[in-house]
Amino acid sequence: MAFLEVEDLRLAYVTDRGLLWAVDGTSFSLEPGEALGLVGESGSGKSSLALALMRLLPRNAHGPEGVVRMDGIEALSLGEEEFRRRIRGNVISMGFQGAMNSLNPVMRVGHQIAEPLMVDGGVSKSEAHAKVRAMLEMVGLPTEVFGRYPHELSGGMKQRVVIAMALVRDPKLVVLDEPTSALDVSVQAQIMNLLKRLKRELGLSLIFITHDLALASDVCDYIAVIYGGRVVEIGGIEGVLRRPSHPYTEKLLASAPKLRKSEQPDFIPGAPPDLLDPPAGCRFSPRCSYATDICFAEDPPLFTVETGHTAKCWLRQDAATEAAD
Ligand code: ATP
Ligand code: SF4
Repeated sequence: MAFLEVEDLRLAYVTDRGLLWAVDGTSFSLEPGEALGLVGESGSGKSSLALALMRLLPRNAHGPEGVVRMDGIEALSLGEEEFRRRIRGNVISMGFQGAMNSLNPVMRVGHQIAEPLMVDGGVSKSEAHAKVRAMLEMVGLPTEVFGRYPHELSGGMKQRVVIAMALVRDPKLVVLDEPTSALDVSVQAQIMNLLKRLKRELGLSLIFITHDLALASDVCDYIAVIYGGRVVEIGGIEGVLRRPSHPYTEKLLASAPKLRKSEQPDFIPGAPPDLLDPPAGCRFSPRCSYATDICFAEDPPLFTVETGHTAKCWLRQDAATEAAD
């Protein structure tokens, strides 16, 4: 049994126009020390998937439905109090999108990192402070950062603080939502190196959310490409990058900035689907240059293109077998 097993996870939001399915039947698994990248355009449902795993949902959420097994525990069937005590923070924790800019400006950094330890972890103040100093060192910050306020830190330092907060209760799995998007390229590289070191030294599992496939490939072992609330391609990093098997993945790769000035990035035409009224058939069909009649009529299943690599595209039907869930 894998450390994290997600089976047919679904999550909707109740809106004036009906149910909006932001996570629409997602399945994957992850072992300790492995990293999965969730990659897709804005609005594809990446953050919703993470929030469903954390069970931190807005009031208009409907669900989540499906199965989420973490460390052998059926996480969705636990009561809220039990989930908070047993799972959130000490099995799975999360660094939220934009968290580095949402640190409490009037609270010293060390106290912010210590808070979840004392409130949810039941740890004494002196133990918590000792742990925070160890965490600061772990993420490559001097321990004197404990007494500083967020405005006294650079962007890279603040992102390290967010990672320390996510790690402070020794979780086995950390979800990081766009952790480097507000940082310049050299600081981004330092944070990516930190994540690789933490993964290696702590045996930490990671779910890394980004719209940047190249960035995800730096730290991830597996990539799940998300489109319109669904995983459209999933596989090992090498297979997905070298043998992209869904036209949307091809487009994501082609839209990455090029090193040679003569090669222009290829923009993806059209707009992501309206999840309240998604297109019939394959959700990518209105934007896909390979689309044929079947694409507009029938939603393709995930086809296996090689061991551990599946793609939700009719083009893969002949060369592949339908993936067992
Ligand atoms: P981004 O990269 O911009 O964060 P994302 O891929 O993480 O995007 P989500 O934020 O999960 O995507 O949003 C998925 C869909 O759910 C979008 O259509 C979004 O508008 C919608 N959505 C998110 N939160 C709510 C909500 N509370 N109520 C209604 N719709 C929502
Ligand atoms: Fe394109 Fe058809 Fe494949 Fe969808 S199923 S990605 S429309 S070729």
